[in-house]
Order: sequence, then C-alpha cells, then structure tokens
Amino acid sequence: MSKCKFYEVRKRDGAARIGKLSLRGGNQLQTPLMLRVESLIEKKNEEETWNALRGAVLLPEVHPLFTKVKEAIPSLRVNFFVLSFACSMLNSPRDFVRRIIDARNEIPPDVALWVPAIATVENAALLFYMGVDVIDDTNAVIKGYQSIYLLEEGEVRLSELDDLPCNCSVCSSSSIDELRQKDNKERTSLIAKHNTLVLEKEVKKVKERIRIGNLREYVEMKVKASTFLTTVLRILDIDEEEYFEYRTPVARNQCMKVNTMESLKRIEVKRFARRVLERYEPPARKILLILPCSARKPYSTSPSHAKFIEAIADYRGHMHELILTSPLGVVPRELEVIYPAASYDIPVTGYWDAEEREWVSSCLRAYIERNLRDYELIVAHLSGAYKEICSSVAEKLGIEVVFTCEDGEEATSKEALDSLKEQIAEVCGERKRLSGYEMKASVIKAMADYQFGIGAGNRLRGEEEGERIKITGKFPSYKLSLGGGVLARIVPAYGLLALTVKGALRIEDSISSYKVEIGDFVPKGSILAPGVVNAGEQIRVNDEVVFSGEKAFGVGRAKMSGWEMLESRWGVAVQVREVEKDESKTFG
Ligand SMILES: [Zn+2]
Repeated sequence: MSKCKFYEVRKRDGAARIGKLSLRGGNQLQTPLMLRVESLIEKKNEEETWNALRGAVLLPEVHPLFTKVKEAIPSLRVNFFVLSFACSMLNSPRDFVRRIIDARNEIPPDVALWVPAIATVENAALLFYMGVDVIDDTNAVIKGYQSIYLLEEGEVRLSELDDLPCNCSVCSSSSIDELRQKDNKERTSLIAKHNTLVLEKEVKKVKERIRIGNLREYVEMKVKASTFLTTVLRILDIDEEEYFEYRTPVARNQCMKVNTMESLKRIEVKRFARRVLERYEPPARKILLILPCSARKPYSTSPSHAKFIEAIADYRGHMHELILTSPLGVVPRELEVIYPAASYDIPVTGYWDAEEREWVSSCLRAYIERNLRDYELIVAHLSGAYKEICSSVAEKLGIEVVFTCEDGEEATSKEALDSLKEQIAEVCGERKRLSGYEMKASVIKAMADYQFGIGAGNRLRGEEEGERIKITGKFPSYKLSLGGGVLARIVPAYGLLALTVKGALRIEDSISSYKVEIGDFVPKGSILAPGVVNAGEQIRVNDEVVFSGEKAFGVGRAKMSGWEMLESRWGVAVQVREVEKDESKTFG
C-alpha cells in the first residue's frame, strides 16, 4: 500500500466520521474503512496464513506473521494511528472503552484510528461510533477458518445452521449441503469469504448512517444483540459524557428516535436539560402552567395543544407554559422549535418505567427550584403518569400545585378543559391575551439565549429608542428585521436561529463564545481549519458562528467543534453564509 499523504474528515456524526485518506500516488480511500488482511500480508500458503492469523489474535504483538502486518504499517503511520494490543480489549467492556477513548483523545482529530484484528459484524458499528476510522477483516477471516459463520447480529457455527441466511456471492452460489461436502480447506475459506463480505456490507451501512446523522439509533439497535456491547454503550453514556459532548452536533435535520433505555442517556437529551437550566430565562408571568407533551411536534401544532391553547386563550398573557415530556424533561413553550424538542419520537403506552420517571422528575424539580420565585401559582393540566410525577415533585418541594384533571380524566376531555378554563379565570380575574408579537419575540429571545448564552436574546430583540423591530413569518419560520434589514431567522429543519451579519453585529458582545478568528483572507464558501486562528471552545457541529479577521467578517455554520478547528490541519471548519469585506468593521 502506498504511503498516506493526509486524512481529511468530511462529515461527523458524534465521534463517528466519514473521511478521505489520500495516498501518495493519487489513490484515495474513504473511511469508515475495512482493510482486507489478505492485501496486507504476503501470503505464502493458506495454511500458514490461517495459523498466523489465529496467532495474531491470541498474541498480536509477538507472533511472527503479525509483525509482517506491522511492517506494512510504519509507512502509514503519520496520518494513521494503530491501536496495539487491541485484542485484549475484548476481555472487558471497560478496557474496550478505555483503550479506544484514550487513543482518540491522544491523537489529533485529523489522524485516522485503526483498531486492528477485533472487528466483527456485531461490533463494527459501535467501534465507528466511538471514533474508530479503520477496521480490518482479520477477525472475520479467522472465525471463518474456525467454521464460525457471521451474522449481522452475532455469530453461529456452521454446524448449527440448516440453511445459509445470506445473499452474498458465496451463500447464493452454493447450498449449505454443497458447502458441507467440500473439503475442510475450501469450506472454511468460503465461510471466511462470506464473513468478510458481510463485514464489508456492515461498514457501508454505518457509512450511510453517519452521512444521514442517525448512527446512534443504529448503534442502540445493534448492541442489543450482545451483553458485552450493551455494557460498553452504557459505560460510554455514563463515563464518557464529556467525550461525546465535545463531538455531538448541536442540531440535526433528523428525528431523534427514543426507543431504548439507552436513548434516555444520549448527549442530546442531557444537553437540552442542562441548557434549559443554564441558558433559559422564563418570561415574567405570574402563573406557571404545566402541560403534557404531544406526539406531533412542535407541540403547538398538535390537536391536543390547540385545545389547551383555546381553553386559556383569554388569559394567556398571565401565563408561562411548560411542557412535561420524556426524555427531555421540561420544554418551555418558547423552546419547542429547538432541536431535539421539535423532532423526537418516543413510544407512548401510558406506562413510564422507574428510570424515566426519575429522570423527568429530576428535570421538573430542578426547573421549579430554580424559577419558583417568579411564579405566584403553579397550575398543572396533567393526567396519568404526568400528574403523578408532578404531584410527587410538588410534595418533595413542599409547594402547592393546582391540578385541573381529576384522576382518570384525560387532559383533552371536555370536563378537564372546562376545569382548566374555570380555574384560570378564577385566578387571573382580568383577561390578558398574548399579542402575536409578544409570542414571536419571546421565541426569538429564548432561542438566541439557548444557542449563544443568556443575554444574546435581549440584545437581539431589545428595542433601543427610535428603533422598530419587526417579526414576520408564519410559525415557526419567523424572521426578525430592523429598518428593512434582516437580523435573524428561524431555520425549522434544524431548529436553529440563523443570524445575518447585521444580526451578529447587533449582539457581538454576547456571542464571544461562538466566535471564530480567521487569518488574513476573505473566505469564499467555506473556511478551512488551517485558516482558523482561534475558535470558541463551546462551538459544536452545526452551531451558528461569527467569524472575523483582518480582511473579512461574517456568519456561518460550524462544521467541526471549536477545539477541532484548532487541532486540525485539514477539512472545512465553517460553512460561510454571509461575508463582508469591510476592513473598518471588526468584532471586539
Ligand atoms: Zn453470505
């Protein structure tokens, strides 16, 4: 194999990447990549290879033939990192986690990580999810020579099969009986070939998942077939939160599917819950109204929420609405468009298990504790498990909550809605409707705070003397403008607020954490990592960022995390949306 010139990461989905390995001589390879062990080892005869490979797995560093693989490696070393003694990882889930995460943390982001000799069809997706870029078929081939037939969800001995459950070229060209009749050498080599082919297919599937941005859902599904791999994922979710926080995009144009217990532990869920506490200020209202979530998102567009809103319409100006939901905990009405609040799906049975209850309760409790002083009264229009969660939190905090649904009554029933209307009218007295402008402005403010930190929202929408801010557009595609120039608009597909240069200039003091300093050039289309001089540590993939340099300033979307922009020599750091070549204006 020719020498590797450079490795460029093209697309990220959490720690997983699609990248391009450019080899000297002009060849290119794409990661996630499966190397074929045959192409790495000079075979003398099959028997020797097989023995050597078996040895390789048992004693990766000392077996003579494995050193031949290693001899092939130094020429790739610069942009390739090979994890040695990888096989020992298979002894314990903790080692599996530690070895890969440590390696990934030690090497620069634009160096490909190769974990040799351990990949199977079962564990490949998890390996790539953790940040491995290259695997090989050593393990698959060895298993073939041991008459172990790999399936997508595990493995089985050939003797246990009655048929070949596969359509690869090997399995479709002979029946299981024909395969059994072949001599040992030929039979095992065919199984090895099948194993390599299914592993290769798995790598292709993972690549597409990364491209689409839903590898996590696939990994949750795959690990279910193995206790070892489920343990690995659980350890990752508990112990490696920071590792994934630094790598997980802030928004996606994908629905987050919450179908397993592991889904509750996703970074996206934890990040949302944390930001509701740290980057959200409720509007000043005297009543907190807690509502249940709906299947349709954003909640406002659902039939149930249309009914709730109708019931409280005359008094909505007195109220702050908070939606109770699993797995996000609590979603303030103003943040219902933000990712993942506007795009998650969870099976609804009415039954909540203990872990889910505990997590959602902790989110509600933390929210109330933090914001209690702002409210005179808390009204909960909740039934079933939602009501149970809310009343247990109220009890723990020693606060009074007015419940508007009787036990066993649906929140959307006429009785419950009438009761909601009556209670609200009684408490509020005077009618106070919420103006369309007020609604829209509170959404823009909350989204700006959520994305850039508290303060950004008020600066963006706040009116100075003589100014007239306009908000136009139909929910949720709001557009904020001033004097005919657009400041920001909501991009519903990603649940993000996108700034214009004019908008960015208006709030520049509040978005220093999302600033990218660039060199002495005017970017066109994109800013590459080597052009970045400095970048905010909080920046994540798909974050809105502001860039400035001596010759240009503008706005765009981050394509890598801030730390990665600084550590990478290759790749697109920022996709430019708007750039101005004005040398007199620079950010502070
Ligand atoms: Zn097959």
